[in-house]
Amino acid sequence: MTDLSLPLHGAANPSTERVGTTPGSFANAANIGGPLTFSSPDTPGMPAPSAKTAWDFLPSDWSRKGAFAVAPAGFVPVTQLEHARLGTVTPEMRRVAAIEKHLTPEQVRDEVAAGRMVIPANKVHLRYKLEPMAIGRATRTKINANMGASPISSSTDEEVEKLRWAERWGSDTVMDLSTGGDVDKCREAIIQASRVPIGTVPIYSMIIGRKIEELTEELILAGLRKQAEQGVDYVTIHAGLLRAHLPLVQKRLIGIVSRGGSLLAKWMLELGQENPMYTAFDKICDIMREYDVTFSLGDGLRPGGLADATDRAQLAELQTLAQLTEHAWRRGCQVMVEGPGHVPFDQIEYNMKLQRTLCHGAPFYVLGPLVTDVFPGYDHITSCIGATAAAYHGAAMLCYVTPKEHLGLPKKDDVKQGCIAYKIAAHAADVALGIPATRDWDDSLTQARAALNWERHFELAFDTDTARALHDEDLDVDTDFCAMCGHDWCAVRISKEIQEFASGKADAFAWDRVVKSPALSAEQREILEQRGVLSPDEIHRLASKTKAAVQSDAGAKASCHSDFVPTEKARQLQQEKLVALRVP
Ligand code: SF4
Repeated sequence: MTDLSLPLHGAANPSTERVGTTPGSFANAANIGGPLTFSSPDTPGMPAPSAKTAWDFLPSDWSRKGAFAVAPAGFVPVTQLEHARLGTVTPEMRRVAAIEKHLTPEQVRDEVAAGRMVIPANKVHLRYKLEPMAIGRATRTKINANMGASPISSSTDEEVEKLRWAERWGSDTVMDLSTGGDVDKCREAIIQASRVPIGTVPIYSMIIGRKIEELTEELILAGLRKQAEQGVDYVTIHAGLLRAHLPLVQKRLIGIVSRGGSLLAKWMLELGQENPMYTAFDKICDIMREYDVTFSLGDGLRPGGLADATDRAQLAELQTLAQLTEHAWRRGCQVMVEGPGHVPFDQIEYNMKLQRTLCHGAPFYVLGPLVTDVFPGYDHITSCIGATAAAYHGAAMLCYVTPKEHLGLPKKDDVKQGCIAYKIAAHAADVALGIPATRDWDDSLTQARAALNWERHFELAFDTDTARALHDEDLDVDTDFCAMCGHDWCAVRISKEIQEFASGKADAFAWDRVVKSPALSAEQREILEQRGVLSPDEIHRLASKTKAAVQSDAGAKASCHSDFVPTEKARQLQQEKLVALRVP
């Protein structure tokens, strides 16, 4: 037999705390402090990382001294970038290091100084409930959930409820994209209630009640200042879309699909002038710096279909975004850059690595990307496939897509579905990149699964309630098999019985006491009701757990456990009593 083993391209063992897990990773070895912090190997033809960082774009009156910079006399640092350049570790950087346990506060500072990491934390929002976090390829991959009232649907209360829901399902930031209702009140309520950074696209509220052609530089700056004063942590500014780019869009299948991008294109065509976000960029930078609002340089020309991906329009705008990144760094602002959109799977790596090169490692914040256009209603899936590849190849934050994408305003359950799809994408990429300790969670769940320890299995599951409800839908006791294969065919149970295997032998996970599964919670019951597979009577029975059938109602372990009663007795009980529960 040929001796095959996993080649160790990079990280020696992404999950070094664990014994018995398969070591190895095809990702590059971690290089925190360099351009390839956690990164995939480059497929031939990919552009090399930039040799520059934000250090190459200091304000003209600053100078370098040793590892840090010196500002002119009397300068007072405001932004995280300015503090980092001067060598200061801020409380926000310490907080980031406390939650990103593979990083020290000094490493966080150095990544911020290099422009490869941002900490979106408006000084005003820090006075409320904001818990600072960081976005950058040296950190775990982050996800964003969009919400916001539209002119047709939703209200402030509903949006605040969606914010809480997104936080519950793991969203690292939330963008309020309200275009209807009382947008100022809604934004204020969201900022005051949120623990996560809040992003906006300020142009939306600037044109409420007026035509786009009426937008002026004064209105832009006033609208931005209002949002900065309210505490918005990062804003999408579509300053990279220029008049010169518009002819490049003419042959696209679906033109401009960014709301901000299409509005500004119309403004430029109607007035015959350059994009006001571009011409006022210095003044915008000044407001951003004053409150430490992070730039999210918007890609107004992102592709809206596979046919338009990576076209001249998209790449021309990206080059302008790179120039604006350098410019904003010179003015002391934190910057991340937004990216596509709809991209065929094979083009994703190039898109990520081109941005890494042009924008000198500034965090890339991508929407999806969707890898096919023909599954409306399932675009949280089509896009999370692309998002996993994007994060593996360099994206630092993934903007979620919900099942309602292209179809309507997401409701609460759509927010949950989008968040979960993107938590899967982010976690899968982090494991593949070898970010320390990320795989420990997977290993713990595998151990619980091998031990057939259902309580621990569900406790570790990202969505405990759904996992429990789906298990109990078919078998309302925690026994040593599930309804998928049944007792005789349960490979995990059989493996457990084979003494030579490690499966299920870990002390921390093995059955060490009588375990009685709890009744379904209200939330778990609702999950089953929504599935509509069981009758209300059946769900009620599951909710009250009539375990008398398997003699476990008195707190005893269910007698269908073959490691608890003789195998024959267990089998008899299973056949006699559990058939009704649809065990095959
Ligand atoms: S019955 Fe099948 S699916 Fe269920 S735990 Fe055993 S092997 Fe896994």
